[in-house]
Amino acid sequence: MILRSVTSRLVLLYCLLLVLLGAVFLAFTVFSFRHYTNETITSNLAIRAQEIWNVSQGALDQPARLTEVIERRFSPQSEDRFIRIAAGGRLLYRSGQPSDGSFDAARIPVLPGSAASNPRSSMMGNLIMVSRAFTTAQGGTVTVDSGQSYQFAQTVEKELATSLFVGLPVLLLAAAVAGYFLMRGALAPVEAMINAAETYTFNEPHKRLPTVDSEPRIEALGQALNRMLDRLDNAYSHVSRFSADAAHELRTPLTIIRGELELVAAGEKQPEDVERAFSNALEEMTRLSALVDNLITLSRMESMWGKRSHAAVDLKELAEETMEQMGLLAVEKQISLMRPQGPNVVVAGDRERLKQILVNLLDNAIKYTRDGGEVSVEVGMDGENGFVTVEDSGIGIDPAHQERVFDRFYRVFPDRGEVGAGLGLAIVKSICQAHGGTASVRSVPEIGSCFKIEIPLFAPDKKMAAAETAAASGRGIP
Ligand code: ADP
Repeated sequence: MILRSVTSRLVLLYCLLLVLLGAVFLAFTVFSFRHYTNETITSNLAIRAQEIWNVSQGALDQPARLTEVIERRFSPQSEDRFIRIAAGGRLLYRSGQPSDGSFDAARIPVLPGSAASNPRSSMMGNLIMVSRAFTTAQGGTVTVDSGQSYQFAQTVEKELATSLFVGLPVLLLAAAVAGYFLMRGALAPVEAMINAAETYTFNEPHKRLPTVDSEPRIEALGQALNRMLDRLDNAYSHVSRFSADAAHELRTPLTIIRGELELVAAGEKQPEDVERAFSNALEEMTRLSALVDNLITLSRMESMWGKRSHAAVDLKELAEETMEQMGLLAVEKQISLMRPQGPNVVVAGDRERLKQILVNLLDNAIKYTRDGGEVSVEVGMDGENGFVTVEDSGIGIDPAHQERVFDRFYRVFPDRGEVGAGLGLAIVKSICQAHGGTASVRSVPEIGSCFKIEIPLFAPDKKMAAAETAAASGRGIP
């Protein structure tokens, strides 16, 4: 769910807070504006009522003059004002209709209790009005009503509210987008750590998660994980060293025993059952020696991981040489071993190790192809990698086993007495990994298998390539 992400939750939370704040701000602004305009207009109207009284005092009993004086001085209609003067319930003057038509001057009611001398204000539709009572020299009471159209202020208020109403969501959206990117920026170190962790393999055991320049807690997490990787790396090296040492220790006594057995077998003729026992023991001893050799090779490969060798190796030349040497095995089974196809491709690597890959793959191809079958090799280039494929018309591998044949000690038919110990392809994979390459297989049971190894081309970096090509031509390597 989207709300599982801390970014979405934070952005949502602060958007909600912004909506709340925005609503309070909007209400407060509109309320303040209304209050302020009311106050200002009311006090102006009270002052104007006083002015009206001042100019009209002398003309109260001359209606025509009163009208003229007031209209000249205050222009009520054109200024959208309302002026009404009354004495003892008798109307002395009342302004006409305002030009904006915001109120009907003839229907403005008299404010109750207008005889009181304190000014009172009231809103009547679009009109805001103040009533003041004044006393004449003769002791009579004159009420002056001074009003003003409120339409303009109402329009301004409406526009203010509208612009806040429209502006706030825009602000909100901008804040949400900014918040999202801010959070993404803050979590970028976590992304970098995830990417580094995803690509972590024992090929590069010294690779660590990036921890610099990040949020202190994220940095602390990265450092803790790196310390854990250090410990795992140490433990793994320890185990690898142990199996390498054990294999080494086994090698010498095995060689001695095999030598002794060979000596006895080549010596005086023994009774048949003793000879058979010797021959079986010798065969098992040979297998055991091969197994120990393979284990040693595997542990050497692991120590090579991450330390790339940069010698130039021509894969085609290597394939030709290896196939020539293994030709006899194919001849024994009447398997046609075709000459390698494809261009000369130079990869960066250790020649002996790369040769071992070809030996293992060709050995398997011949071993698992019935008499009279075919084995072919192709060399080529794929992006920044050189590749070799070894294809046979053999028994093939069931899809369920294809992924696992590269595992150590994995054999597809362990009960059928397959000759190897299941380390050949593990060594192929390990050598490929040590070179920063890959090994894969495509196979169809009863049709055949095609093993492919990919190794990075020699010095893809141009400067290095030039230097290495010069050096390689000196060594007679194309
Ligand atoms: P081994 O040394 O026992 O041959 P590998 O690691 O080389 O072990 O191979 C593992 C298993 O993969 C073998 O036991 C075999 O069943 C299967 N395999 C390997 N190469 C081929 C091939 N070319 N055709 C069919 N099966 C193969």
